[in-house]
Amino acid sequence: MRVKYILGAEKPSLSFEVFPPKTQDNFGTVSRAALQIAQLKPDFMSVTYGAGGSTSKYTVEIAKSILDTGVTPLAHLTCVCSSKESIKEKLIQMKDNGIENILALRGDIPQGTTPSQWDFKYANELVTFIKENGDFCVGGACYPEKHLESASEREDTDNLKRKVDAGCDFLTTQMFFDNDLFYKYIIRLRRAGINVPVIPGIMPMCNAKQIVRSCQLSGAMLPDKFKRIAEHFSDNPVAMQQAGIAYATDQIIDLIANGFKAIHVYSMNKPEVAQKIQENLSEIFK
Ligand code: FAD
Repeated sequence: MRVKYILGAEKPSLSFEVFPPKTQDNFGTVSRAALQIAQLKPDFMSVTYGAGGSTSKYTVEIAKSILDTGVTPLAHLTCVCSSKESIKEKLIQMKDNGIENILALRGDIPQGTTPSQWDFKYANELVTFIKENGDFCVGGACYPEKHLESASEREDTDNLKRKVDAGCDFLTTQMFFDNDLFYKYIIRLRRAGINVPVIPGIMPMCNAKQIVRSCQLSGAMLPDKFKRIAEHFSDNPVAMQQAGIAYATDQIIDLIANGFKAIHVYSMNKPEVAQKIQENLSEIFK
């Protein structure tokens, strides 16, 4: 099923994310985790793509195994360091495997590389290329706290508009921990004429180290409330996971209460986290 139709339905939707293994050795473990999450029957599951790296070759394989369980997969695809020819091959592979949904991304620029030499400089060019070379439902990434490379919110929004106008059917946000930032962001997007559905991406923080690393990488701001939780439970991983799930659940309930009915959870190959979130929200996502 196309993600745009899932988002267009009356019923609220819950989706989870998995990331593929770096090596063949870990394929079995990741594949089992993905299938366990698929057993929860989320509305769709996204599978990330390693930009120019080793994990990219497993994305389609994992997405296909999710599709075989009857759950809709959303395969990520990055274009950094890629040629048009290689992207075309990926699109054919996706089509041959029955994958209809792609999250089109640029990917992070590897240090020491020269973007001007690549076939794609920004994600909007990938969106255009996908639309010209296949019949896919295409999503894009967006950043409530702006992308780290954007000089201003205005520049960030203008570039996002270009990407949406290239053919994005929906957007998924970078993780955020303060819903008010997201609500203000949505107002900004709508004022800029960006009217496609925006799926808030919620990351249940399950260990303190992961919190710090993810926030450094993404530039996401951690509210004081969350920092206190992270500090208090940092020596107790089980309690930290419980607190992280509770915080994410609270964010999701607030989003639903404010009219956002599609929620994406960065479940990070953790079936127990996906299951707990789903249990906490069982009446809401019935
Ligand atoms: P773009 O939309 O190209 O934006 C990148 C920067 O360039 C922004 O600052 C933007 O303002 C600017 N820009 C955009 N277009 C133009 C233009 N035409 N002219 C001038 N400036 C422009 N990474 C992975 O490697 N694999 C994944 O699977 C993955 N999944 C992700 C999923 C989500 C929901 C999110 C939010 C991020 C994900 N990422 C993933 C990370 C992402 O690849 C990085 O954040 C990357 O740095 C930017 O990718 P983008 O598609 O947002 O780029």
